[in-house]
Order: sequence, then C-alpha cells, then structure tokens
Amino acid sequence: MKLVSLYNTLSKSLEVLDKEKDEKVGIYCCGPTVYNFQHIGNLRTYIFEDILSRSLRLAGYKVKHVMNITDVGHLASDADDGEDKMALASKKEGKKSEEIAAFYTNIFFEDCKALNIQRPDVVCKATDHIKQMINLIQKLIQKDIAYKSNDNIYLDISKIPDYGKLAGLNLESLKDGARIEVDNSKRNAQDFVLWFTKSKFENHELLWDSPFGKGYPGWHIECSAMSMEYLGESFDIHCGGIDHIPVHHTNEIAQSEGATGKPFAKFWLHGGFLVQSSGKMSKSTGDFLTIARLIEKGFEPLQYRFLCLGTHYRNELSWSWEALEGAKNSLNSLRKKVAQAYNSLNSEVNLENLNWQSENYLTDLLSPLFQDLNCPRALAKLNEILSSNTLSSEEKIKATIIIDDIFQLKLIPTETSKSEEIPEEITQMARDRENARKKKNFAEADTLRNKISAAGFLLEDGPNGFIIKRNN
Ligand code: AMP
Ligand code: ZN
Repeated sequence: MKLVSLYNTLSKSLEVLDKEKDEKVGIYCCGPTVYNFQHIGNLRTYIFEDILSRSLRLAGYKVKHVMNITDVGHLASDADDGEDKMALASKKEGKKSEEIAAFYTNIFFEDCKALNIQRPDVVCKATDHIKQMINLIQKLIQKDIAYKSNDNIYLDISKIPDYGKLAGLNLESLKDGARIEVDNSKRNAQDFVLWFTKSKFENHELLWDSPFGKGYPGWHIECSAMSMEYLGESFDIHCGGIDHIPVHHTNEIAQSEGATGKPFAKFWLHGGFLVQSSGKMSKSTGDFLTIARLIEKGFEPLQYRFLCLGTHYRNELSWSWEALEGAKNSLNSLRKKVAQAYNSLNSEVNLENLNWQSENYLTDLLSPLFQDLNCPRALAKLNEILSSNTLSSEEKIKATIIIDDIFQLKLIPTETSKSEEIPEEITQMARDRENARKKKNFAEADTLRNKISAAGFLLEDGPNGFIIKRNN
C-alpha cells in the first residue's frame, strides 16, 4: 500500500489521501455535455481522470468512479445565460434532444475506448435523476437557502458563509454583477438558478413537473444530486477541467454543503487546458479537433494519449500537429526499446508473485505517479530503466508491464499488435477515398476501396471516421 498525494484546489496544496488499504475511494468526474463531439481538449481531461483511478487502484484502493452525462441544463454560458446547449443543438440538427444525446454519448465512449480510457463504474444521465435534483432543491428551500423569484428557483449565496472558497472568490469584488448580466430577479448578482420555469426560449422540449412548476433544472444541481446519489453526501475526490473552478464547482459546493451541512468533496482536482494558437480549444466556438480527425490524418489515438502523458495534468498543454508528430516518434522509439528487451527474454515473465513494493527500481518508477500523478517523470524513469546496463530484460519488461497498466500505451509487443499494424500506404488510400467521397467522386472512391480490399484490409465507415482492419 502506497501513500498517494494529490494537489487539492481547495487547500491549494499537496495533500495525502488519508485512507486505509482496500478502503473505497469515491471519485466523481463532470462528464460530457452531449450536444456535440467531445474535442481532444475535453478528452485530455478524461485521460487525466483515467490515470487517477488507475493509479489509485494500483496503490491498493477500491475505486468507485462515477461520471455524469449532461443531457439537459447546461446553458450556452456557464452562468445562467443563453439557451440550453441541448435545445440549441436539437434545433440546429432538427432532431430530438434525446437522439442528439444518444448519438454524441455513443461517439464519446468510442473515443474513450480508442484512447484506452476505462469506462467509469457508474455512468449517469442528468435526465434520469430529475427526482434527486428536485429533492435537493426542496431541502434548500426548506432551509431558506433557496428562494423563488420570477417563477425560477435561485440559490441565495449570501446564506453560504464561505461561498467562493474553491476559487478564492472575493464576494465584495463580485457584488452587483461585475462579471455577469444583472438579473433583477436575483437577490445577489452571483445567485444562480436551481430550477427554471420561465424559459426565455420558446417550445422548450425538455420539461418536467415539479413542486416549483413545470420546468427544467439548472446545470450545477445535476452534479450535486448525482454525486450524492452514488457516493454519499461527503466523498473523496471531485474532478473536472480548470474552467469549472469559478462557477460550476463553486456552485456545486454551495448547494451541496448548504443542503447537507456537511463537507462535500474532500479533494478537488482540476486538469489544465489543451490550448491552441487561437486560445482554449472549445466546442462552443467550433474551433476544435476530434479523435476522428486525428485518425483521418493517419495518427493512432494512443499517440495522442502519449502526448497528454508527456505534460503534467495541471499544466497547460499546447496543441500542434508537430507536437503530435513528436509524440508519435517518441512512442515508436519507446515501443522499440521495449521490443528489444522483450525479444531478449529467455522465458515468459512471471508476474504471479510480483510485489512491486519490494523491488526498489519498481517503487522508484511508480512513486512519481503517487505524487500528484506525475506521468512525465514516470515516463522518464521508464526510459531510464529500459536504457539501464544493470537491469535484466526480465526486470525491464516487468517495469513496463506494471507502468503500462496505468499508461495504457500498448507498450508490450504481442502477436496481435504486430498483425494489427496498418501500413501507411493503406491508411493514405483510405484518406484519399474519404476525400474522393467528399468531392462526390464515387468512382474513384470505389476503386480505392477495392484496392484496399485487394491488399487484404477491410475498410469500414464508423460514426466518427473510417476504421481499417486486417481481413483475416
Ligand atoms: P463539457 O463537455 O464542455 O462539459 O466539458 C467536458 C470536460 O472537458 C470538462 O471537465 C471541462 O472542464 C473539460 N474541458 C473543456 N475544454 C477543455 C480544454 N480545452 N482542455 C482540457 N479540458 C477541457
Ligand atoms: Zn459537473
């Protein structure tokens, strides 16, 4: 059992996770708002959360990882402004919100699979937990922390003495709506909506009956209701991207602690942004890249995972195609080093009785992970081990197997990984076919598909791009 330290945004310091071996650690992660594709920036955050739960499991804890799917309530602005993102997408695409949500949720999990992000133990949809949200709002009304105004229900932040503690917000300087549109229905500028009955937008599709009137929930309340449903009123770790600190997570804390009178999450972990030259990669501006786009350009999704592991999760990561090309080359050379050690093994590595805590080189390798998930340092350690003149091939492979349980980069060569490799010329033909189809040049597209098939490969069109398989 290894002590794990994590940087807690709440205390602004590295803190030891104070738990016993085999004790359950509850993790809640804010999941995707499913009105569009998740971009590679969003996916960077889920990669960090995946590393967190895998590392805690390796350290000996029993992890319960919960993630929500936001399929209602997230307005075009993180505050209470603008139309519901789902409703907007539904109008734009001419489909029901439910269909839009199912479509993008499906693609999200396919992307996660391609990136070896483990499916959380619990995946919960906001629209399935309206009852829990209503109960929480009722508690807040009973405690006089929430109030009705202009037919919406608001949380009165003046009733929460430490409101803004996560972000270090100074309430005095926030007074009178310095940053947000002044809404005369609110008692304080930073009060936020728990339940809307007055939609500014016509024909709102997502509506539920409630004791406060027919309407729909605000965004923040869903995460409080679902985390408490699956992890209890107080739990261990809450995660998300840094954009959530000042509004979403701040409001989650206010309404949860207001309702229960207990501390909500003990640790708050936040992943840094993936940024591009035009700024933060963002769905709402439409200026973003998806995993499908990386595949189209001939990259393996795991090369993107590797790129993410090369920067500490709390630091900003600058996106560029050159950086991904660099990650591809570094991952290739890492895999080659592993293959060299693997090919010089005398026999199969026996992991049965492997106790990584009794072997110094293995504890050295893993300890950066247990110090605030320092993947870049663990990667450097792995490279050192693989280049060592004193460690045996067996030791090198043991180290690789153990760390790849967390990294998930397919570092160990297998017969299938060799036979699954798709030659570059086949991928190029698939890309050319895609372009031909876009230009409606179907004859050329068919010729290319036939060539691919004659070379022994199967080309399939998936919902987020093409997939090439060997035709065995
Ligand atoms: P959303 O689908 O917008 O609710 O976001 C899903 C997750 O991605 C949240 O945890 C966000 O904080 C995170 N996120 C949004 N943009 C980025 C970005 N550019 N880089 C890293 N994480 C992001
Ligand atoms: Zn959330």
